[in-house]
Amino acid sequence: MDNCIFCKIIKGDIPSTIIYEDEKAIAFEDINPQAPVHFLVIPKEHIISAKYIDESNKDLMGHLLFIASKLAKEKGLDEGYRIVNNCGIDGGQTVEHIHFHVLGKRKMLWPPG
Ligand code: AMP
Ligand code: ZN
Repeated sequence: MDNCIFCKIIKGDIPSTIIYEDEKAIAFEDINPQAPVHFLVIPKEHIISAKYIDESNKDLMGHLLFIASKLAKEKGLDEGYRIVNNCGIDGGQTVEHIHFHVLGKRKMLWPPG
C-alpha cells in the first residue's frame, strides 16, 4: 500500500528503530511509547486489521504472537506485559496495517479506556 506508514517502515522509506526482522514480519519501537517498553509487531504483508484475519493469514498471526513473546522475553518482561490489538474505529485503531502492541515494565490497568 503506497500511503501506508507501516509499509513505508518495512521498505525503509521512513526511519524506525527496528528490533526484529524476518521474511514475514518486523518489530519496531513505538514512536509514542505508552509504557517504558512499547514496541509493535507487524506482518510485512499489508493486512488492514484483525477484521481481515482469515484462513490465508491465520498462521501468520500466530507467528506475530510468537515474535511478541520472544521479544518480551529478550526485553526482560518477566513480570508480565500486555499485548494489544486495536481493530477499527471502535477499537481505536489509527494505523490501518494490523499490528500488535507489546507494552511492559509498568502495571497495566483493567478495564482499558
Ligand atoms: P493504533 O492506534 O493501535 O493503530 O496504533 C498505532 C501506533 O503506531 C501508535 O501507538 C503510534 O504511536 C505508532 N506509530 C505511528 N507512527 C509511527 C512511526 N512512524 N514509528 C513508530 N510507531 C509509530
Ligand atoms: Zn501497510
